[in-house]
Amino acid sequence: MRLGRARSVGLVGLQATLVDVEASVGGGLPRTVIVGLPDAALNEARERCRAALGNSGLGTWPQHLVTINLSPASLPKAGTHFDLAILAAILVASDVVPQLRLDDSVLMGEVGLDGSVRPVRGVLPAVLRAAEAGVGHAIVPWHHVREARLVEGITVHGVGSLQELAALLRGAEVPERLPDADPEPVSLREPDLADVAGQLEARWAIEVAAAGGHHLYLKGPPGVGKTLLAERLPGILPDLGAAEALEVAAIRSLSGLHVGSELPRRPPFASPHHSATVAAVVGGGSAIPQPGAISLAHRGVLFLDEAPEFSARTLEALRTPLESGRIELARVRAVASYPARFQLVLAANPCPCGQSGLRSNACTCTPMAVRRYGERLSGPILDRIDITQTLRPMTQAYLRAARGSAESSAVVAARVASARARQLERLAPLGYRTNAEVPGPVLRQDLPRPGGVALLDQAVTRGLLSARGVDKTMRLAWTIADLAGAAKPRQTDVQLALAMRRGDEIEEVRCG
Ligand SMILES: [Zn+2]
Repeated sequence: MRLGRARSVGLVGLQATLVDVEASVGGGLPRTVIVGLPDAALNEARERCRAALGNSGLGTWPQHLVTINLSPASLPKAGTHFDLAILAAILVASDVVPQLRLDDSVLMGEVGLDGSVRPVRGVLPAVLRAAEAGVGHAIVPWHHVREARLVEGITVHGVGSLQELAALLRGAEVPERLPDADPEPVSLREPDLADVAGQLEARWAIEVAAAGGHHLYLKGPPGVGKTLLAERLPGILPDLGAAEALEVAAIRSLSGLHVGSELPRRPPFASPHHSATVAAVVGGGSAIPQPGAISLAHRGVLFLDEAPEFSARTLEALRTPLESGRIELARVRAVASYPARFQLVLAANPCPCGQSGLRSNACTCTPMAVRRYGERLSGPILDRIDITQTLRPMTQAYLRAARGSAESSAVVAARVASARARQLERLAPLGYRTNAEVPGPVLRQDLPRPGGVALLDQAVTRGLLSARGVDKTMRLAWTIADLAGAAKPRQTDVQLALAMRRGDEIEEVRCG
């Protein structure tokens, strides 16, 4: 009986666990058994590895009883990336390569039937985990070398075939092949606010949303610039910190998206179409659920255009992540948890046909249809929205006059950054970073009392504002004060904040 050992990494959500892969060869009738909770893909691994080995010129699959054990057995394992570790263990057990180098390495990679090594998902979180555990080397498909080298403290080797893997394990030099250099950095491609003429109120709403981290609801007929503005929100948000950027990159890696040789420092933007499935929006899939758009928008912006057109199930599924900043996706064998702390931007037409509010006024919707359309966005979602902004069509003459005079994203981003710095100074001792995160009680008891609070009391007495509405207005007033560089909200800031969420409030009152 001969033994070989290698290591890989099991991924459930973003949680990575080192997996020991042992192969024992000898005794018994020639057959291959994989133990340790394999899913269908792992069983296919047996056939794939057998063919790959045969076609690699390194030998044939052992004509004995081959037992492959993946442990810990209790960990659900899925995916094709265990191939490389399985084959490495087999090569050791077959005396083709020495064990030595494998003792300090993790391997990730799928093999093709011809013995080539193919790209897989999740290399970045896997290599991160290995580095944390003190493993010295990571052997990954060459396609992921740049991505894996984002992790410090571990030596990364790229391989393109089993031949190269064998050479590496024997201590030979393997010529390095690198994936294509990164495409143009995202920061250079972010759309600029300078392109949006007019809509001064809505531009201000975007700025306040960015400064305080507030969720935003843009209403208006088609063509007034709702999408243009929403797409420009990430461009005025501050850069991500190193830890945040690593989270964003790890989620991209798990989704099979490109991860370059630099951490993504700009906040991501995700805008799923309203016909997207619940799984595509919040995450899902059969064996171990994959991240959805809400996780790809983590630390960035999730934009739902034509929000009332999303299915009720999708909108309902947003509730928990909006509260907790995470999504848990439970399946029979595994619960995958993904971060999903995004800034939400909803956009909606005033009515199903979209024509109401336009100058032509060609709307054909019945009042009933208009009401139902508005009601599709349920209370729990709208409860989370701090700013409701209505956009109106602008005349061509106005647009012509406004063209070229719009502020650029860089100018607005600078104001946002200083407002964020003020918040951090005030809120960090309380454990928060942005005004939008501050819970009602903290807002009322632990922060200085804004000027003009009497205005809020009046609004409550007149039935224009609910208790929750008071908190939202206070949060907004703080952000407006932060943008103005004021020590605390003044009466005018409270008035402005009231105006910014009035559209929402009137509706709440009307609906009882
Ligand atoms: Zn209509």
